[in-house]
Amino acid sequence: MDTNILVEDEETHFFGDVCKNFDYAAQFTNHEAGLLDQIKSCNSVYRFRFPIRRAHGFEVIDAWRVEHSQHQSPTKGGIRYSEMVNEDEVMALAALMTYKCAIVNVPFGGAKGGIKINPKNYSLQELENITRRYTVELIKKNFIGPSIDVPAPDYGSGEREMSWIADTYATMNPGQLDAMGCVTGKPIALQGIQGRKEATGRGVAIAIRECVSVAEDMKRIGLTTGLSGKRVIVQGLGNVGYHSAKYLAEFGAIVVGLCEYEGAIYNEDGLDVDAVFQHRKATGSILGYPGAKQEFKNSMEGLEQPCDILVPAALENQITELNVRSLHAKIIAEGANGPTSPGAEEIFYEGGGIIIPDMYANAGGVTVSYFEWLKNLSHVAFGRMNRRFEENTNLNLVNMVEGLTGVALTPMQRSTIIKGASELELVNSGLEDTMIRSYHEIRETFKATPKIDTLRTAAFVGAINKIAGSYKTLGVWP
Ligand code: NAD
Repeated sequence: MDTNILVEDEETHFFGDVCKNFDYAAQFTNHEAGLLDQIKSCNSVYRFRFPIRRAHGFEVIDAWRVEHSQHQSPTKGGIRYSEMVNEDEVMALAALMTYKCAIVNVPFGGAKGGIKINPKNYSLQELENITRRYTVELIKKNFIGPSIDVPAPDYGSGEREMSWIADTYATMNPGQLDAMGCVTGKPIALQGIQGRKEATGRGVAIAIRECVSVAEDMKRIGLTTGLSGKRVIVQGLGNVGYHSAKYLAEFGAIVVGLCEYEGAIYNEDGLDVDAVFQHRKATGSILGYPGAKQEFKNSMEGLEQPCDILVPAALENQITELNVRSLHAKIIAEGANGPTSPGAEEIFYEGGGIIIPDMYANAGGVTVSYFEWLKNLSHVAFGRMNRRFEENTNLNLVNMVEGLTGVALTPMQRSTIIKGASELELVNSGLEDTMIRSYHEIRETFKATPKIDTLRTAAFVGAINKIAGSYKTLGVWP
């Protein structure tokens, strides 16, 4: 039996779920059916296979790149390295990218890539070979380029893989001035941008902070406003999960639970996220961390412990009809893409909770990827041209005010006021502004139409309207 077919048959619901959410939201818009169909469909699906040489012989690798919508160029989306990856999943994730970019006003279409491997089973050299060959295949079919399609990290990939992609693309496109804009999430030394690595998790934390700041909504679900003292459980201690947990703690929340695939830990007084991360790095497991009061060998039990906010930041389909009733959380903030099944979402809402939907909650990554792409096209770091000028202007102003008032500022006050913005500060400020504005835009849509029953539907409605607007203003649609 072809096990690939079996796995795909079992898992062909994710794109369908995204389409169902789309269709449900579309009834609250007034666009014609043909345009809605065009927005919803995956425009280009490229499935390919390539061989790599291993110690025991050749192995054929399955891979995908899906460009869901070219209503804006380039298209944008991460590359997932996972043995669970399949065409349906890549299509769903590409579609989510389209809506995500629209929600946070990033002028890209959505795309996604997948390489069907478990990176842990391959040597560094093999991973490099796979990544470079994957890039060559994309180049051959015109599925990559700064103005065509720009990948980024996703589950199982990071800065290292993005460097190999950038280097391969630049090597095969000699003299192309903007070549480094072919991929984002690169290391700083290879024209990456400060703040990209932590952007998705930071964005998740800002999204939650914004959500809990609305008194009316918190009253409805029986929570006080503000993050201070709120108990959080995070699933997945990878890029998104680690940074979500870290910034939530920084913003005043108490991280009481952390779940990884090997198990979960809990302490109602709080866990030190960095110490847990270091413990896992040293021992290979989250279990055995001395600061935990409880341990669960079954990782899913970790999600069911007492908390106010749950951040699933690992993979899709983690909260289903089977476990949603056991959750204590009043807020689910979807750090991962598609972690809550539609059935579970309905039950969670009936129980009086709020779900901050993935396509908004984890949009911080693509927002800062957009900044990185802009940096690559402009060939200058943010702040480089104006930082010193700003500092001199501020200095003159402070000197003048001190002279006029006779009040001398402390050295600390002076340096805080005078300081010009660094690239990291500008990136973080752009990210924060984007996450805050987008949250309230979604919430306003939610409040404006009583029949819109979830923030996810409201987010879809906003995204559909913006994408339809692009088609219409471009003259692509009458
Ligand atoms: P990652 O590979 O850095 O981390 C994922 C973590 O989840 C790993 O530590 C892994 O061990 C853990 N994990 C796997 N299965 C688990 C399970 N069953 N229970 C608990 N933990 C488990 O990946 P990432 O980049 O953090 O991506 C995580 C999710 O966030 C994905 O859904 C991805 O699509 C989404 N996302 C990522 C980004 C980004 O910038 N990296 C942006 C937007 C969305």
